[in-house]
Formats: sequence, C-alpha cells, structure tokens
Amino acid sequence: MAIYDLKCNECGNEFEKFVTGFLKDSDKECPDCNSREVIQVFTSFGIGSSGSGGGGSYGGGCGPVGSPFG
Ligand SMILES: [Zn+2]
Repeated sequence: MAIYDLKCNECGNEFEKFVTGFLKDSDKECPDCNSREVIQVFTSFGIGSSGSGGGGSYGGGCGPVGSPFG
C-alpha cells in the first residue's frame, strides 16, 4: 500500500491516492472534476520505518535533474 499525493491542474484540488504498488496512469484522475490533468506532488521525505523484520530490494531511480542554479 502506498500513498501518493496528487494535485489537479484543472481545479487545483489536492488529494491523496491509495494504491497497491505503483501509481498507474488511470489513477491520476481528479475526484472533484474528473480531470486527467493530475500531477504527482512530491512532499518532503518522511519515511519512517516501523515494525521489525521485513526485507526487499529498494529500487530507486535517479534521473537527470535540471538545476536552476547550475
Ligand atoms: Zn480537479
């Protein structure tokens, strides 16, 4: 279960999407105006680990990020 923060570009509605696995393109739909102009909002990192055990590979993607102050 993962929570994604999304924002609608049409009405500016911000909402959260609970999905299992990765966010699919079909999940990007505004519940307010049913617009597909939805972007993913990346909030500040606050990953807290709870519980014990568990395992798995954590695949992080590193893409080219353009810096405004190069
Ligand atoms: Zn909307």
